[in-house]
Amino acid sequence: MNYHQLNPDKKDILIIDDKADNLRILSSLLARKGYNVRKALNWQMAFTACQTVLPDLILLDIMMPEVDGYEVCRRFKSWDLTADIPVIFISALDDVFDKIKGFRLGGVDYITKPFEFEEVVVRVQNQLELREARLEILRLNTELEQRVKSRTWELENALKKLQREIVSRQHLQDKLLDIVLHDSLTGLPNRVLFLRQLGKALTLAREDNKYQFAVLYLDCDRFKVVNDSLGHLVGDELLIAISHRLQSCLNYGDTLARLGGDEFGILLENIIDINSALQVAEMILKKLSITFKLSKYEVFMNASIGINWGCKDYEKPEYLLRDADTAMYRAKAQGRASYKVFNPAMYQEAIQLLEIENDLRRAIEREELIIYYQPIIALHTGKIAGFEALVRWQHPVRGLMAPTDFIPIAEETGLINDIDIWVLQSACHQLSIWQNYPAMPQNLTISINLNARLFTQVNLIAQIDQIIHDTKVNSSNLELEITESVIMENTNVVRTIIEEIKQRNIKLVMDDFGTGYSSLSYIHSLPLDSLKIDKSFITRMQFYQDSMGLVPTIISIAKSMTMTVIAEGVETKEQLAKLRSLNCDFAQGFLFSQPLEPAEVIDFIAATPQW
Ligand code: C2E
Ligand code: MG
Ligand code: MG
Repeated sequence: MNYHQLNPDKKDILIIDDKADNLRILSSLLARKGYNVRKALNWQMAFTACQTVLPDLILLDIMMPEVDGYEVCRRFKSWDLTADIPVIFISALDDVFDKIKGFRLGGVDYITKPFEFEEVVVRVQNQLELREARLEILRLNTELEQRVKSRTWELENALKKLQREIVSRQHLQDKLLDIVLHDSLTGLPNRVLFLRQLGKALTLAREDNKYQFAVLYLDCDRFKVVNDSLGHLVGDELLIAISHRLQSCLNYGDTLARLGGDEFGILLENIIDINSALQVAEMILKKLSITFKLSKYEVFMNASIGINWGCKDYEKPEYLLRDADTAMYRAKAQGRASYKVFNPAMYQEAIQLLEIENDLRRAIEREELIIYYQPIIALHTGKIAGFEALVRWQHPVRGLMAPTDFIPIAEETGLINDIDIWVLQSACHQLSIWQNYPAMPQNLTISINLNARLFTQVNLIAQIDQIIHDTKVNSSNLELEITESVIMENTNVVRTIIEEIKQRNIKLVMDDFGTGYSSLSYIHSLPLDSLKIDKSFITRMQFYQDSMGLVPTIISIAKSMTMTVIAEGVETKEQLAKLRSLNCDFAQGFLFSQPLEPAEVIDFIAATPQW
């Protein structure tokens, strides 16, 4: 048999029969139907034939010497190359053919001899088609598998890409989070992160009785002065230097955060008692007290510190921080470069201040503010020269409040400007009414206290003009009392406003002189009319039997600058006598009168007192 002659387009059938005649008949029959037919007389030949080319179908005789058809079939079925080649058994009618055994061994059909030609062809064809269909299914399955595989590969790739993307996004997110939670200048945690840490500490303290912590709130003293005068770059440099010094006072595990501007927060963890926190605060104040040597300047900067013990009963970390902040304000008020430990009474006071602030916002419109007037006496005549308007607040619940109890709050909140303008307006109105009383002394003056902030408002002059116009008072009867802080501002706006005031013949008085920082030469540069000596100097005067303290010096310098002098807080006849002997021009104080309600002023004047 020459296998090379096999036509690859044709189906290949292997006939195995020990009888050559049978082989011939069957093969020529099938060859005529267009199949490649190969013949084998026994197992050995069949095996060789399959080794050469695998047939598409095997026709297998049962009765063969040595290896019979069943055994041949079993062998083919157990050989993986031939296992799925369909095997059709051929049996002679007189053979004892066991169909069940044949099928069990893997045969797919059987043909009985003598052949019915058509039957053989149909059965062969059926099996070939069946096989073809099976192969097709197999092929399709493999193709499908291949496609699934490649899709899976694509998906896996996409997944990997996605995972890489997720990782890089996570990095980005972490980075963004880092930016959001840290201060860009110092790199320290910011308020948000600090509050989170505080929250964690709070939770820990609730879970573990042994865990103790404390919070420090630190605010630089007069940082604004450095920032405003030396510029933001220097301010930034200073803040970084401060943060380094603070860090050097802390233990590993403590948290330092920048809470904003010149404020820092410190979380001390795993401490034994409040003393540990106090020691840290003391060390901080000590370290900060050393001069900062910056690139261009040497700067001195200290801080006020509020300390709050990490009590686990706090509902929120914000409250912990708030109370540390309250304590810090106390430290600042008590004198700078110091620390204060929070106690609940401070909270109550802070709440009260807040309430006062809220009430104060409505005080003007509710007409709760009233003005008392304190007479000012001209010492050379002993008669009333004018009155100083001093505001009070008739609080609906707290009763009559002194300015010292609400002016600082008004200053802090900016409400002071409205109050001052209201006082100016009301006092001028009052003066215009008094001027109509015949008993009123001529050229009675009215003194009004104006806070420093007003002098940075360009529209102040317009407001003054409007009030003078509305009340028709003579502007030369008006005296404005300013404090040294106005001069300290010394900006062009302030200067312009002061000049405008002078052009209107309004008098300018420097109030509480001697308590501020301004030097006499500084005062000289401004067109002031009078100096009002602070009552602390007048009080002390009687302790210096001979020299009378600084009062004589102040009076003589004021006079040399052609300013008049007013003595404030005169309470005794001795003080009055001494002031007269020093040629002091005016005086006011309880010796003459307490500040009076408007109705009392009329009676007071009617009594025509004289000293
Ligand atoms: P000031 O302008 O220096 O007013 C003098 C203060 O000394 C007044 O206190 C007055 O009652 C008090 N006083 C007067 N004579 C004596 C005395 O013989 N002995 C003692 N111990 N005290 C005396 P008052 O009315 O409580 O005002 C306190 C401060 O509040 C004022 O000090 C002033 O700085 C501020 N102030 C009052 N009214 C206003 C206002 O309308 N606007 C502004 N911005 N501040 C005001
Ligand atoms: Mg005053
Ligand atoms: Mg005063």
